[in-house]
Amino acid sequence: MTKKKPPKNKFTLKSNWIYAFIIGFIMLMFMMNIGETINGTQKTSISQFYRFLEAGDVREVVIVNDKNVRVSLTERALDKDIHKSLKEKTLLNTPNIKGPHYYFEIGRDNSNLEERLREASKNDDIRFSYETEENRLMDILIGIFPFILIIAIWIFIARRMSGGSGGGGIGGSQIFNIGKSKAKLFDKNDNVKITFKDVAGLEGAKEEVEEIVNFLKNPSKYTTLGGKIPKGALLVGVPGTGKTLLAKAVAGEAKVPFFSLSGSDFVEMFVGVGASRVRDLFKQAKEKSPSIIFIDEIDAIGRARGRSSITNSNDERENTLNQLLTEMDGFDTNTNVIIIAATNRVDVLDKALMRAGRFDRQIFVDLPDLREREAIFKVHLKPIKHTKTLDVPFLAKQTPGFSGADIANICNEAALIAARNDKKSVGKQDFLDAVDRIVGGLEKKNKIITSEEKRTIAFHEAGHATVSWFLEHAAPLVKVTIVPRGQSLGAAWYLPEERQIVRTEQILDEMCAALGGRAAEEITFKKISTGALSDLEKVTKQARAIVTIYGLNEKIGNITYYDSSGQQEYSFTKPYSEETAQKIDKEIYQIIEAQYKRAMDILNKNKTKLKKLAERLLEKEVIFKEDLEEILGKNPFEKKESTKE
Ligand code: ADP
Ligand code: ZN
Repeated sequence: MTKKKPPKNKFTLKSNWIYAFIIGFIMLMFMMNIGETINGTQKTSISQFYRFLEAGDVREVVIVNDKNVRVSLTERALDKDIHKSLKEKTLLNTPNIKGPHYYFEIGRDNSNLEERLREASKNDDIRFSYETEENRLMDILIGIFPFILIIAIWIFIARRMSGGSGGGGIGGSQIFNIGKSKAKLFDKNDNVKITFKDVAGLEGAKEEVEEIVNFLKNPSKYTTLGGKIPKGALLVGVPGTGKTLLAKAVAGEAKVPFFSLSGSDFVEMFVGVGASRVRDLFKQAKEKSPSIIFIDEIDAIGRARGRSSITNSNDERENTLNQLLTEMDGFDTNTNVIIIAATNRVDVLDKALMRAGRFDRQIFVDLPDLREREAIFKVHLKPIKHTKTLDVPFLAKQTPGFSGADIANICNEAALIAARNDKKSVGKQDFLDAVDRIVGGLEKKNKIITSEEKRTIAFHEAGHATVSWFLEHAAPLVKVTIVPRGQSLGAAWYLPEERQIVRTEQILDEMCAALGGRAAEEITFKKISTGALSDLEKVTKQARAIVTIYGLNEKIGNITYYDSSGQQEYSFTKPYSEETAQKIDKEIYQIIEAQYKRAMDILNKNKTKLKKLAERLLEKEVIFKEDLEEILGKNPFEKKESTKE
């Protein structure tokens, strides 16, 4: 795929001309030096000259432009030893009899030079004269040389900074393109060939972007009904999970031009560049509409504004973000430009980006589970000549926590390893070796999970699941996974209930389920781990809320220490006495311990079920309600779910 060529502009010539000029100038200076040498003229000093003068070697002296002194010697003097170097300097090895033979410049403290020369010209046969040479051009050039040099350096740096060096294929006029967007354009000529077939797994995400494809293919179908199509979709997920791939597939399916760039491309040292690049990008996209703009790493510009506005680059980023928001608001849906952005940090994004009519649709792109990894392997094995008996499910099992990009990497690496060993096809061992290599790289990034850790995670999540299954008020469980996602190593997914008023039992049941993870670890391994940090954080907050906010604790009473005006700074001053503080701490402790004990009791009663569930998790990595029902039995509180509607 080729990059879009920047438009040729008239400045190209100009900047090249400057370069030619500088080179020419340097060559001219150089040649003048050579010229002196060819003539056999040598630089000397004034003291040296006086010596020649006293020895009677000098025949003629010319002072040029009151600055340079040219000295010619007598024929006799040329044979002297001290002037021997003159012969060597000439190309012909015969000294130029006419001269000039030496030259030197008049310094500040040579005021008596002219006097001495006049004196000498009276006595001896020395000719002495003044000359003005019309060589002003040289002086002018020397005068402006520093400026030329500065301009040249400036151009050089500017090209560097605007990324021209690595960009490739861009002419010498990068600096004049600084306000132009740096988006790579993939359009009809080099059609995006990627389709949904190339994206393995990600079923949910694909379904969500399907609508965008349909809209781009047939916009009138939607707009005539008055429907509004989102202008932007935000793909959220860790690097390498296929966000770019998915966006490209959307363009490929809809057969529309695809502008791809990274958030950091907008932000540069030059003030105002980001905003004008955004403007240019949208202008180009509108010209090619229907089209897709893909902005990778949007957090580079989309970070929440106004955290600290000390540095200049921050202002610049804000300007860029504001421009982006303006552009997104500015065009209406019939422009048929859809923006897809990717990030793995939704939490830092400016809320304004998520407002209706902007990136109001968020699509989560998770790390692949076992089944999805198998599918990704199959996609990337296609171009590889592998042995017929290759066990793909086995490979998927060997790669927990790997992203799609990691798997693509493994396939490539395996092919390289096989080639190195002169094999006819890529075999299982090559893939295992490749996994080892990639794991080595990943370990540094702390991404990899050992099988022992995986076991702990499985029991931990199974603990959450089992406990919540047997609690009346815990939210219904829909899915349990041990596929790492963001910071968490596993997760139990609940169908959240919309509750306006929460009763004490409900909070307590939720806390109990949250403590089920740690309880399961203690029961199974007789050890607890740091893996329960976020559970503990949540539980502690809830317990504190029971006591200090909602007034649900009998010992403390119907008192709240909550200040809805938000002016209370709890971290500095406590709104209660030291005595109450101790009471509160004690109550919080007791509430949590009671729930922990409850979780332990439930798990001790259901030990075999817990084990079975954990093993099922280890095997499948993701389990749904059906598996839970099969192992744990019908949910005793199912009734609650149906009455909820
Ligand atoms: P992201 O944009 O999320 O960082 P990319 O889309 O750039 O990730 O993915 C990098 C590469 O990883 C892709 O070019 C593709 O080869 C491979 N890849 C990632 N996810 C998948 C997937 N679901 N199916 C097939 N290949 C994938
Ligand atoms: Zn947990």
